[in-house]
Amino acid sequence: MSISENLSAILSEIEVAATAVQREASAVRLVAVSKTKPHAMVQAAADAGQLDFGENRVQELVEKAEAFPQLRWHMIGGLQRNKVKYIASFIHLIHSVDSERLLAEINKQGGKHNRQISCLLQLNISSEDQKGGFTEEAAAKILQEIDAFPHVQIKGLMGMAEFTDDSSVIQSQFNRLRMAAEAFRQYEGDRISMDELSMGMSGDFPIAIAEGATLVRVGSAIFGGR
Ligand SMILES: *Cc1c(COP(=O)(O)O)cnc(C)c1O
Repeated sequence: MSISENLSAILSEIEVAATAVQREASAVRLVAVSKTKPHAMVQAAADAGQLDFGENRVQELVEKAEAFPQLRWHMIGGLQRNKVKYIASFIHLIHSVDSERLLAEINKQGGKHNRQISCLLQLNISSEDQKGGFTEEAAAKILQEIDAFPHVQIKGLMGMAEFTDDSSVIQSQFNRLRMAAEAFRQYEGDRISMDELSMGMSGDFPIAIAEGATLVRVGSAIFGGR
């Protein structure tokens, strides 16, 4: 299968999953995760009409964004504070904000570039120690302190389900993210909205869509295994 065939297959699966729960397929955006894959594959996906791309390492993200400035680049992986400066000028959305110190640095770099940087708060919905992310309580605290971060826009939440074959476990973890977003609607305002839910990868994006995902991050199902 070619990249363009894979992309159309994923887009139809998105449509099927959305329709099954009476959602519009247009309410779900596909972020093509191109990490470790060559520029030629990004080009092929872009030629097929794909606009949003995700990367999890800063250096690779910067290289690809320089090669393809017309595309929207999403940071989806663990982000070190000392590397925020390399992506602050162009990043479309940082999905993986997992500490207040990171948010403070993003705010600082947003100020330097005279822009508001769009962010999602990552929640640890599987409660596995190795997965980053805030607890609901810690995320709520950040949202109440948003005035301290004038150069960021919080657009919603991101989460990763546990790696398991048990779809009911996956579904309940995605449901936890959705419920957190609902609870956080009370903090919505000028620079906080809970409109975006980034959840679901190649193995579980239909479940995520059933639970309200607006951004699905799909890599291997488009570009092949890594
Ligand atoms: C790699 C990665 C993905 C995509 O994973 P696939 O299983 O290849 O679809 C999604 N989200 C994050 C945070 C990732 O690091």
